[in-house]
Amino acid sequence: SLPVITIDGSSGAGKGTLTARLAKLLDYQILDSGAVYRIVGLAAHQAGLLTDNIDETALADLTQSLKIEFAAAKADSEHVTVLVNANDVSEVIRTEEVGNFASKVAVFPKVRQALLELQKNMATSQGNPKKGLIADGRDMGTVVFPDATLKVYLVASSEARAARRVSQLTHAGKQADFDEILAQIIARDERDSTRSASPAKAADDAIVIDSSAIDAEQVFNQVWQLCVE
Ligand code: C5P
Repeated sequence: SLPVITIDGSSGAGKGTLTARLAKLLDYQILDSGAVYRIVGLAAHQAGLLTDNIDETALADLTQSLKIEFAAAKADSEHVTVLVNANDVSEVIRTEEVGNFASKVAVFPKVRQALLELQKNMATSQGNPKKGLIADGRDMGTVVFPDATLKVYLVASSEARAARRVSQLTHAGKQADFDEILAQIIARDERDSTRSASPAKAADDAIVIDSSAIDAEQVFNQVWQLCVE
């Protein structure tokens, strides 16, 4: 299989920016596993499955039925293009609401299991046209690619992450309420780190970087140093 770099950590810690930059320099394929969970979350919501009493088997069946594909990022986007049953959902999955749907479906072992093969396949030359893979998510270094060549775990305070999100939204011309976003971030982190199935956590051999007080450039420099070592 191909060389793999994993970038795990919570939303807003800067995984996406770091991943995109490394992928470009190394000419590696990106696996945005958060996008995969967002797709399942959105599909589950649309199918009416996100009730108080979620049917795990129905959710796993739905997950299996989705044809998820990645394509190169569009020139004006910071995210890879993701297709579901040939429809481009790259933008619609980016809302906080869909992030929340994603974290609801992500607690179920059968859903995670159903997505495992798709993710692992991207580290093989059949599933990947490039020289290597850079995988970003919560459990890339612990569960999906335990043998990765380099594992990074990015953390940042919830306040720093909320502030970044607010500035992103404001830049995009959207309304953003700091307190509301902070509350959403805290609730999602809590669910992601306390679930029993593949909780978000650093692998024992991961390099942990706290980006609360440093900018994307400094984070990149630290990781790039590790890549060329
Ligand atoms: O990283 P992103 O915010 O796009 O992830 C959305 C949600 O998908 C996370 O809050 C988490 O619940 C779930 N997820 C996961 N495992 C991954 C990636 C994302 O459980 N590897």
